[in-house]
Amino acid sequence: MDRAHVRWCAACGAALPPEATARRRYCGAACDARAYRRRRKLDRIARAAVAALTDQADPGTRITRRVCPGCGNGFIAGGGGHRADAVCCSPRCRQRKHRTHTAVR
Ligand SMILES: [Zn+2]
Ligand SMILES: [Zn+2]
Repeated sequence: MDRAHVRWCAACGAALPPEATARRRYCGAACDARAYRRRRKLDRIARAAVAALTDQADPGTRITRRVCPGCGNGFIAGGGGHRADAVCCSPRCRQRKHRTHTAVR
């Protein structure tokens, strides 16, 4: 068996069948679809991050760069993982902010 000709699935690492064509990168349709979805998601997040960091966010996408009042860290609202109207970077920060608010009162 000539191992030099064995190629591996780019998504899950399983060996590709020997009859797989040279262009084939995934062991099956499931890995193909998964890799496609991940690529699209990374693409979207990267675009959102670039838009926010350059302050050229498209108003239609509602992506904004904000500073979390809970921890002071910057985060991207409307990008990966945060709602467009998010005020804090995480639920924990939101609670902390809420607590300090009521404590000051
Ligand atoms: Zn696979
Ligand atoms: Zn925070």
